[in-house]
Amino acid sequence: MRYKQTVSIIGFGRFGQTLYRLIKDDFEEIIVYRRRGVDRDEFGLGKNTKVAKDIKELFKSRFDNFHTLFYCTPISTFEEVVQSHKKFWSKKHVVIDVLSVKSWPQKVLVKHLKNTDIQAILTHPMFGPDSSKKGFEGLVWVMDRFRADEKVYKFWKDYIKSKGLKVIELSADEHDYLAAFSQGVAHFIGRLLAEFGLAPTPIDTMGAKKLREVMEQTVNDSWQLFLDLQRFNPYTKSMRIKLGKAYEKLFHQILPKQVKSGKVVFGIQGGKGSFNEEALMDYVKRHKIGNWEIKYLYTTDRVLKALWEGEIDYGLFAIQNANGGVVEESIEAMAKYKFRIKEKFGIQIRHFLMKKPGVKVKELRSVMAHPQVFKQCRKNLAAKYPGLEQVVGKGELIDTAKAAQALSEGKIDDKTAILGPRVLSSLWGLEIIEGDLQDSKDNVTDFLLVERLF
Ligand code: NAP
Repeated sequence: MRYKQTVSIIGFGRFGQTLYRLIKDDFEEIIVYRRRGVDRDEFGLGKNTKVAKDIKELFKSRFDNFHTLFYCTPISTFEEVVQSHKKFWSKKHVVIDVLSVKSWPQKVLVKHLKNTDIQAILTHPMFGPDSSKKGFEGLVWVMDRFRADEKVYKFWKDYIKSKGLKVIELSADEHDYLAAFSQGVAHFIGRLLAEFGLAPTPIDTMGAKKLREVMEQTVNDSWQLFLDLQRFNPYTKSMRIKLGKAYEKLFHQILPKQVKSGKVVFGIQGGKGSFNEEALMDYVKRHKIGNWEIKYLYTTDRVLKALWEGEIDYGLFAIQNANGGVVEESIEAMAKYKFRIKEKFGIQIRHFLMKKPGVKVKELRSVMAHPQVFKQCRKNLAAKYPGLEQVVGKGELIDTAKAAQALSEGKIDDKTAILGPRVLSSLWGLEIIEGDLQDSKDNVTDFLLVERLF
């Protein structure tokens, strides 16, 4: 039996076509429309189906019965579509939207249907072309009576049920909350897996196959639909934040509680003999830590990366000096990683200028040190050693201790001096030229001792 009434499908994309597949044999007149036109043969349109050439044709019906307008257009264009169509709507029309979010179309329709008696039903079919490929039996369609009279609403509710679908009645807000934490998560994970590049392997488990199914179904939908789902549902943002926190928690729960059993592993920004090492000695002594080990990581970025990846238990790096200001490399690295500050403390810093034995002071051409060291000794260097070019080493050589090692091992030019802690001279056989080159007597550097979040 065919209902003697007209149904218009506005937007003949992935869902418009799915809806047509569901209703095509049940109504005397169906009108389909999309702006670029619809090819009758391509979609196998039946004799009862007209293709509207312009939007005016969408609203004409040859029956006295009510005329349903199914809006299957993108979420983000819904308001502009309503704005351009509403002048054609009359008392006879029933507007039904199928948008995957519900508070947004509710808001748009409340605004544009004010002071009219046009009926409207809010719906969301919880399926698409992929999930309905094998039929519609058992699939869910969410409905909210909204502005429809009981008779019209009952007609559509009963019709949907008669096709084997399950109707769940929810308010727009209830729908959006539940959808954010089910469909919203599924789409987000599907896109995440596509971004990750999940590919089949010869040993795929059932779980792996299901994940690929989720990914493939999701990426079959347009990017616009994905964006709209994430942006127009008021609850998806909190879903994404919760998902991100859960990922981080799980990631860290898998890491060992302690990297080496019975030993605390510290990773420091400096090398052997660096101020970082001095700061760590201070920390270990104050906290009476017995069994510990040090990893020289030379840069703050490497310290925080090692901490994040579970290769060290704690990290230590300098953040600022009373005279030199903030440690730029630490600020930049801190912006990239998450961690917890366990302690902030300062130590007094003294800088010594040293050279390789056998090289005369007047033969020296440059001085190598961390940029912070130059900031702390700016005035003294300018007054006493104006002829020495100030050089910052690349990569690990940014660390003064590493630069001192490189000088002693002949890896950098012999005519280079080093400016750093006194201990470097005894460690690497360098001769001290002059001590206490820091501009201020009160030259304190602050360090952060950091740990993982979980
Ligand atoms: P789609 O494949 O991109 O189709 C959108 C259709 O709307 C196209 O036919 C497009 O054709 C037309 N359109 C776009 N802007 C228009 C405008 N301003 N005026 C008139 N027609 C316009 O998207 P979809 O996946 O079918 O999604 C459509 C709606 O269905 C969305 O609101 C979505 O939330 C909902 N939905 C989708 C699914 C699904 O599985 N895909 C499931 C349930 C609900 P022209 O550009 O040629 O006009």
